[in-house]
Amino acid sequence: MEKPNVESITGLSPAISIDQKSTSRNPRSTVGTVTEIYDYIRLLYARIGTPHCPNCGKKIEKQSIDQIVDTVMDLEEGTKIQILAPVIRGRKGEYTKLLSDFNKEGFVRVRVDGEVFELTDDINIDRKKKHNIEIIVDRLIIKEDIRSRLTESVETALRFANNLVLVDIVGATSGRPQNER
Ligand SMILES: [Zn+2]
Repeated sequence: MEKPNVESITGLSPAISIDQKSTSRNPRSTVGTVTEIYDYIRLLYARIGTPHCPNCGKKIEKQSIDQIVDTVMDLEEGTKIQILAPVIRGRKGEYTKLLSDFNKEGFVRVRVDGEVFELTDDINIDRKKKHNIEIIVDRLIIKEDIRSRLTESVETALRFANNLVLVDIVGATSGRPQNER
């Protein structure tokens, strides 16, 4: 482009210029993905946005172990819960080695796509499909004296699931875990 014949121009709004490409035949391509603007927008929102839970609209925040334990202890006495370590979330694979490693670590049960298995079972996972795998770290009933065991189990889940823990209320009606944090 030829440069305009002036010294300076002020007050112009920032502009985004988009290259026209016709390389992609993928029907899922959009102006956003072809130009890669989508990637930048995603990055922008990941940095400056405030994530909210898509199920209940609550703000998603980092919590300390004590905060997590306090929230769980606030549940009604007698509530049955499971502490899970979500080790695989929506990823394809067979995970035979992963499951046998967790068995060797001393864990007993695992939940694969919502279904509970013993780790010694012959678990067939379709490697071409996406899966959710959660190691069941502990099963507890809410009572005053479980705090230290609960803390330990939450710590274990966080350690194995890369700082994530899932608290499942056993018998809760929703298809999704009730207390996802
Ligand atoms: Zn929620």
